[in-house]
Amino acid sequence: MTLSLGQRMRFLKQSEIRNMTLECTKAGGINLSQGVCDTPVPEAVRRAAQAAIDEGFNIYTRYDGLDELREALAKKLQEHSKLTVDPKTQLVVTSGATGAFYGAAVGLLDPGDEVILFEPYYGYHVDTLKAVGAVGKYVTLRPPEWQFDRAALDAAASPKTKAIVVNTPANPSGKVFSRGELKLIADFARDRDLFVITDEIYEHFVFDGREHIAPATLDGMAERTITINGLSKTFSITGWRIGFSASDPRWAKTLGYINDLGYVCAPAPLQMGVARGLALLDDNFYSALEAEYTNKRDKICGALSRAGIEPHVPQGAYYVLADTSRIPGKTSKERVMTLLEKTKVAAVPGEAFYEGDTGDFLARFCFAKTEADLDEACRRLERAAF
Ligand code: GLN
Repeated sequence: MTLSLGQRMRFLKQSEIRNMTLECTKAGGINLSQGVCDTPVPEAVRRAAQAAIDEGFNIYTRYDGLDELREALAKKLQEHSKLTVDPKTQLVVTSGATGAFYGAAVGLLDPGDEVILFEPYYGYHVDTLKAVGAVGKYVTLRPPEWQFDRAALDAAASPKTKAIVVNTPANPSGKVFSRGELKLIADFARDRDLFVITDEIYEHFVFDGREHIAPATLDGMAERTITINGLSKTFSITGWRIGFSASDPRWAKTLGYINDLGYVCAPAPLQMGVARGLALLDDNFYSALEAEYTNKRDKICGALSRAGIEPHVPQGAYYVLADTSRIPGKTSKERVMTLLEKTKVAAVPGEAFYEGDTGDFLARFCFAKTEADLDEACRRLERAAF
């Protein structure tokens, strides 16, 4: 047989995030690797989805999502992000934020186009770009504030650059981009005529009074920004796959057709569950979420610090990058495997988030866990103490 895989996909292998989930299951450990978010789903959302099945929302929806959901999302974008969008022409409900990102990559990029990403990065962004033949160029953020400057952006750019990816709050660094930083990115994108593709899935996980700012709300940015978000993390429904993109109607139309091509539509009753859930939950829900995750962040950072795995305390999202240099092992993967063996706590090796070797002494710990699981993981880490 002379058959082989397509050239373009030969690079693709199982993500280290999923690998560590498998290792964790094998070891019977507590999974702080993949951001599965196994916390309770708000009752209003659960009940609404169950009722939607009984009421008959079980067939295809419009290719860009149910009217009820697009309207609820437009209202939420207005209230929480100060972003005005027309639910009829600018929103596409997708199979999670991941589906929206894939659609944007397929729809906007040609093979050979260059795209700038900040590292540490979320590997799915990088691999999705590779899957469509685009080429990633990296701007390395400098801890502890995960800083960058205009010179670094310019150094990563070339005449082939077509887009820049902005993930705020960021996975895995927890960086929440400030208005000043977003302005710098906006100026850069305007000067070089680039698309800005965002991933704002952690918008409600911001700590210490920080504010999530949607890049599309900066002056002159709406028409070149593809705003990507979803409810997976906010409602703990990572398995429902309800995300969306908001963009200028010029792009939204094609992004909708791409969604139709790949998925036809996101799951109908779950779209309805989210639409009604959004209508029923008020600001108290979102502030309680912020308070809950601030506590969880403090808990895990305290435990990591006492265990000799010094954390980079995150400003947002629900991951902590921490320094594993005191854990035995030659690579970041070996070190997280030692950790798993000794403590039965799984983390993601730092090498999964960098092109070069900058991540070799880092690991990522997810704290979107129930209190009981997080407490037990913290006890185990502290007991091991490196
Ligand atoms: N976003 C989550 C993470 O970073 C889940 C990734 C996934 O399983 N695709 O862990």
